[in-house]
Amino acid sequence: MITMKDIIDDHNEKIREVSKEVALPITNEERELLLQMHEFLVNSQDPETSEKYDLRPAVGIAAIQLGIPKRMTAIHVLDFDEDGNVIGADDYALVNPKIISQSYLKDGEGCLSVNDEVQGYVPRYAKVTVKGYDVLTDQEVKIVARGFLSICLQHELDHFEGTLFYDRINKENPLAPIPNAMVID
Ligand code: ZN
Repeated sequence: MITMKDIIDDHNEKIREVSKEVALPITNEERELLLQMHEFLVNSQDPETSEKYDLRPAVGIAAIQLGIPKRMTAIHVLDFDEDGNVIGADDYALVNPKIISQSYLKDGEGCLSVNDEVQGYVPRYAKVTVKGYDVLTDQEVKIVARGFLSICLQHELDHFEGTLFYDRINKENPLAPIPNAMVID
């Protein structure tokens, strides 16, 4: 099981490495890793398990955060109704995902590999279309993502290029309003 000790942070220069495409079909080892990454996210959002193993809650993780430079990422984003009840989830374990269309957006972000809280708006596309191979459903998927899920996917795909969310924050004025952007909670 993946725990925080497996995750590298931004003091480790490996986090800046560009990840490589994964040959399809993936190996059993790669499949196992990706499923474990997805399990980590589920565990990290479960109050009991996260407390027991001291996991930082996360909605996405890229393989490079485990020091493995492969274009693989897992996503676990829960959907809530107005009363805070879980009404659904977006779950993916993606191989070679790519953004194939986009529009734009802004919000503050955090990262498993960044220990300090970094203030500032991260300009993002409001809507992205991502294509990749999903190990949870064992098929090619095309995801049209808006809102929070769209931000998660862009954050994880940035890890493939060695880019961290704070690289995108306006250095002079981190909280400068971004024209024409909508805010996601
Ligand atoms: Zn991250």
